[in-house]
Amino acid sequence: MISNEERILKIHGVLPAPSVTIIGGTHGNERTGIEVVRKLQDEISSGKRVVAGGTLTLILGNPLAIEKNVRAIDGRDLNRYFSATMLAADDGSEEFRRAGILASHIRTSDIVIDIHATNKPSVPFVASKNDEAHRNVFRWFHPQCVLTDPHYIFGGGVPVTIDEYADSLGKIGLCFETGWVGDETMIPAVYDSVVRYCTSIGIFAPAEDAAPTIDSVIYEITAAVLRNDLPFVFAEGRGLRSFEKISATEVVGYHGNDPVYAESDGVIIFPKLPEHQHVGKPVCYVAKKIT
Ligand SMILES: [Zn+2]
Repeated sequence: MISNEERILKIHGVLPAPSVTIIGGTHGNERTGIEVVRKLQDEISSGKRVVAGGTLTLILGNPLAIEKNVRAIDGRDLNRYFSATMLAADDGSEEFRRAGILASHIRTSDIVIDIHATNKPSVPFVASKNDEAHRNVFRWFHPQCVLTDPHYIFGGGVPVTIDEYADSLGKIGLCFETGWVGDETMIPAVYDSVVRYCTSIGIFAPAEDAAPTIDSVIYEITAAVLRNDLPFVFAEGRGLRSFEKISATEVVGYHGNDPVYAESDGVIIFPKLPEHQHVGKPVCYVAKKIT
């Protein structure tokens, strides 16, 4: 049944199949995941679509932020609460409370797919491990790129995101970045991918559908570019999008008047908007191609 307050629909099928959780709106302004989850919640609630096997949990990640169409309440990032430390330390925020609820569903899932969008333009990509179990999930989403982070550089050395939390529990977690937050043209394709994937593992009634081949380019995060005490600005033509190519000797941007170099060849990932740049936190990441 769907809980009005929590915006979570959990349905059990009668046939054996995995337990899958799909989350949209962990960041409340990322409409693609929200619309995909809402559509599936509506279809199942109205009886138009039936969960045949396993368990399907459809979650609107941060309902208060979704209502306000903002990334987060009070500037707190729900998708950084999934470390052991953060989940244990009540900071009194709505995000902490919500992270606890999401964590309880992640713990009872086999597969967790968290749907996001980027603040600056990007090709669609998944942040995921690149092993067979994960490939068998992300192949259905046709990502142009796959971003791996084996050393948890993104989280400052520890798992912090929903997908990383799922992986840390021995489950399969992945974060699907569907492209730029202002681009809602991906909604039908993402919906279709979710339905086809769920069908392939027996959540929805079976249909003949061969597993797609993977032609994604695989990247690994190699560094985080951290803001210091001075204001940071990207260099001219830099930090406009994720997967923008950069060479080691190139200037990424400036702290005050001091140039900041990429220090390794690769691509820029998640360049932050000025309002998301905080002292000691990343202004962007650098990743290298590994295939
Ligand atoms: Zn997001």
